[in-house]
Amino acid sequence: MSRIRIEIHGIVQGVGFRPFLHRLARRLNLTGWARNIPAGVELELEGPGQALEAFRTALTREAPPLAVVEEVLVTPLAGSAGYTDFAIRPSAGTGGDTLICPDLAPCPACLRELADPTDRRYRYPFINCTDCGPRFSIVRDLPYDRARTSMAGFVMCPDCDAEYHDIESRRYHAQPNCCPVCGPRAFFLDAQGKEQPGDPIALAQAALAAGQIVAVKGTGGIHLACDAGNDEAVLRLRRRKNRPDKPLAVLCRDLDAVCRLCLVSEAEADLLESPRRPIVLLQKRNPAPDPLSANDRLGVMLPYTPLHILLADTSAGGPDTLVMTSANLSGCPVMVDNQEALRGLAGVADGFLLHDRPIQNRCDDSLVGLWEGQLCFYRRSRGYVPQPVTLPWDLTGLVAMGAEQKASFAVGRGHHAFPSQHIGDLKNAETLDHYRTALDRYLTLFGVWPAAFVCDLHPDFFSTREAEARVGALPLLRVQHHWAHMAACMADNNLEGKAFGILWDGTGLGTDGTIWGGEFLTGDYNDFERRGSIRPILLPGGDAATVEIGRIALSLLTDAGLDPGDAPLPSAKVRAVAAMLRQSALCPRASSMGRLFDGLYALIAGCGKTSYEGQGPALLEAMVRPGEPGRYYPVAFALADGLRVFDTRPLVRGVVADLHRGISHAAIARGILDTLCRMAVNQCAVLNREKYPVVLSGGVFFNRYLLTGITRRLRRAGFPVLTHHRVSPGDEGLCLGQLAIAAARLPRKGEQDVSCRSAEDPLH
Ligand SMILES: [Zn+2]
Ligand SMILES: [Zn+2]
Repeated sequence: MSRIRIEIHGIVQGVGFRPFLHRLARRLNLTGWARNIPAGVELELEGPGQALEAFRTALTREAPPLAVVEEVLVTPLAGSAGYTDFAIRPSAGTGGDTLICPDLAPCPACLRELADPTDRRYRYPFINCTDCGPRFSIVRDLPYDRARTSMAGFVMCPDCDAEYHDIESRRYHAQPNCCPVCGPRAFFLDAQGKEQPGDPIALAQAALAAGQIVAVKGTGGIHLACDAGNDEAVLRLRRRKNRPDKPLAVLCRDLDAVCRLCLVSEAEADLLESPRRPIVLLQKRNPAPDPLSANDRLGVMLPYTPLHILLADTSAGGPDTLVMTSANLSGCPVMVDNQEALRGLAGVADGFLLHDRPIQNRCDDSLVGLWEGQLCFYRRSRGYVPQPVTLPWDLTGLVAMGAEQKASFAVGRGHHAFPSQHIGDLKNAETLDHYRTALDRYLTLFGVWPAAFVCDLHPDFFSTREAEARVGALPLLRVQHHWAHMAACMADNNLEGKAFGILWDGTGLGTDGTIWGGEFLTGDYNDFERRGSIRPILLPGGDAATVEIGRIALSLLTDAGLDPGDAPLPSAKVRAVAAMLRQSALCPRASSMGRLFDGLYALIAGCGKTSYEGQGPALLEAMVRPGEPGRYYPVAFALADGLRVFDTRPLVRGVVADLHRGISHAAIARGILDTLCRMAVNQCAVLNREKYPVVLSGGVFFNRYLLTGITRRLRRAGFPVLTHHRVSPGDEGLCLGQLAIAAARLPRKGEQDVSCRSAEDPLH
């Protein structure tokens, strides 16, 4: 007989780890106990040496699907403690040491029961167990038990209660455990909100098959669904939702249905089928624009709840591929409440498939893709949050407020950074409200007492104002936007020391009071230096130009000394905007790569307006066709105040000349992207002679052609290149950089002499 103590570090809380340990110990006839500790899980085991060895092996090999075992520390103990059974003990340490599991798709065992006519949960849309089901979306408070979740109102029936207390059951200590007798129920309502008699799933399927639009309540929010194969229905949905162009995501019944629409690699199939069930961005089989997506890619997911599985199951007929788009009013967060949906979607939805389990935490679908075999995030939300990102520094008490348009925040505890779910644009009052509620919820759930706040340098961002409202006497750091992007990519890769950042995005306030967005910085978490940028673009009418991108085209033409008549604007508008530019009144300057893309796209496509942020860069990328001959436009730089600035004018002249010459749009688009890649590498060669690792961040790097082109060229030139893989390169991931900078800049406990900057003293 031997006795050992094991400490397991990693993501081992809130993922069914202790019940797993319990079952494992029983199987191997080991006695002892397990409990959560701040660092993970601790246990003591007693039994024959061979069985203990088997336990250690199985620990990592058989761990629950979402557990991440990072470290296992084993200490031999002297003598026997005389344990007679295996017990789960109360958590050690103060509250808030636990992690909460993301919402997970049904596990194989639950799927078997769902399809088994003899099972008491046959076709039950809320089936779950310790390995699967809703988690984050139903938690209100800690500790995580039923009374503090959406399941509080559903009292377990004797059968469910027996499972809950039976260690041999898959539902041992499964907080959302339920069945048709005691659990939530689904129902179908017509357009007037009147409940319809009959099987709600069958009613919804019939409505979808008839081309109707159905609101479907999922895990973290309500979707609008329609038959993706019915163009008329899709266009009607676009019209009613006022979403003319932005690509729509689809939910496919199974992998076969996905493969009919898209090309799917093995790794992409794994991602689609993972219990996190994100929307995966895939290459369309037919790259031509269609009602679902105007570019060559499509976001696809597999059903992520039992309800969606039943809905997309076409054994009884009906469509097996459904458009699934968040149900929200323009600019507002996704709806979560039944009454809100019935009111807000009147005239939009023809029917409602809802249920009576409340959603505590609003959480949109995640959007991911694979790049060079690595995961990259476009939106890190359902299935991933609220799992932390582990960083090498102590982050305790740090609260990072993020940016504004693609807002998300992060709170720190120990080495864990907890980035929030996707929030949205804070300029919308409801979204700001959601941001505040979600922040309060995170602070509660993770037991974080704020010690310092960190926000963007922009004084008018609602996230900045929120920081100011909350900070009180605590330190507040204001961090320049692109420095935060750079730090985010460094932290994403656990990089210490200095880096060279290529930070390209839409807009962020610079330290000189102008708008930046085509930046080349050198720095670390303590400080940075702006080394290079691009020639500023005048934005006639400010924000109006980000929607009416024809104005940016006109600005580029004027700057390059070309005929303003080439701008895709009505002639009266051309005169008005040209006058604005001459007086440079109401024309903020932006050295922004995102705006350059908008302007160039407007010139090529002859399109004066966009309907969603990032449309220009995305569609310019989509214009490139494989096999097109390459071409380069001139790359010129100017030195101004020590800053090496890319001159956009020769590029604009080259593009306009090619347009007049009738060169194909595909060739011009590729030429622009290749030229910008060459420009980036040239800047790096000149400005990064120290050969610091290069980090690429900012929303422009959603453009894969650029990401690939710059990465490959830089590596060929001998530079180590790091990209994002744990958070998004866009503004959503920026809070991670703010957190890392705050960890470096703020005084830690026990250090007195580090100067603490007041709220009035911006960092840069
Ligand atoms: Zn299950
Ligand atoms: Zn029950």
